[in-house]
Amino acid sequence: MIEEINELKKQKNAVILAHNYQIPDVQDIADYVGDSLGLSQQAAETDADTIIFCGVHFMAETASIISPHKTVLIPDLDAGCSLADSITADQLRAWKAENPEAVVVSYINTTAAIKAESDYCCTSSNAVQIVESIPEDKQVLFLPDKFLGTYVEMITGRDLNIWDGACHVHEKIGELNLGEKQKEYPDAEVLIHPECGCSTSCMMKSAMYFDCEEAHIHSTSGMLNQARESEAEEFVVATETGILHRMRKENPGKKFYPANEESVCEYMKMITLEKLHDSLKNNRFEVKVPEDMVEKARLPIERMLSIA
Ligand code: SF4
Repeated sequence: MIEEINELKKQKNAVILAHNYQIPDVQDIADYVGDSLGLSQQAAETDADTIIFCGVHFMAETASIISPHKTVLIPDLDAGCSLADSITADQLRAWKAENPEAVVVSYINTTAAIKAESDYCCTSSNAVQIVESIPEDKQVLFLPDKFLGTYVEMITGRDLNIWDGACHVHEKIGELNLGEKQKEYPDAEVLIHPECGCSTSCMMKSAMYFDCEEAHIHSTSGMLNQARESEAEEFVVATETGILHRMRKENPGKKFYPANEESVCEYMKMITLEKLHDSLKNNRFEVKVPEDMVEKARLPIERMLSIA
């Protein structure tokens, strides 16, 4: 199957992009593995005609917004995201109508319809910078992740209006006492990967110095660099467990422990080699954002990129 996938990829001039939380088999066959923003940037830069996006639906939509002239396929249409689904475009329009002067800042984990209604996008790595770029007298509607919103409030000292949304995976990490994990592995460094909703509750707790004062909050590349360059030989990793595959692969002499073994996003694990093969062979399932929405949804992404 791997040979066939590679052959089909050549025939169709396709590129396979896989998120860090994908199953190991899919990560191993991908041309690029990374976080949602990094993969979208890869999507923009590639010469391929077809992008097979092994991640969740809103990420494939973001790739389609950034590269509207390429064919973007997702191997399983049901690969959704509980965080992106925690607000609908109608709910956002109603919220905006109640706060007509407010500036809307949306986490990148949102649907194209939400991005089209937003002023700025942000990732967890640049959310503070984006909010700080907005004049202090402006009201900010921050959505959909309440933990990231609270974290940004704490760091900036701003009073934000925060949507009550969350990723279901974070709840499993959120229950965990990172201090206990540190007691279990006293020589381990704690790495928090703030991307993708599931660890924003840990960011919030770290900012409050709750149990994990020693934690290192990193982007994907920062986290991988830290794992490579640190003299520590053991690491407790607070994020979805999929990223451990790449860390172990890149650092065979070091040990990586999940902060919580149950921190697994079922949506991310829906994509298998069989579905990837089917997607390439039969050109399905195409993710295409309507043209009028592309223009509106691209603006908050471009504003984010120009600031951070
Ligand atoms: S981990 Fe959470 S935020 Fe990330 S894709 Fe899964 S449900 Fe969405």
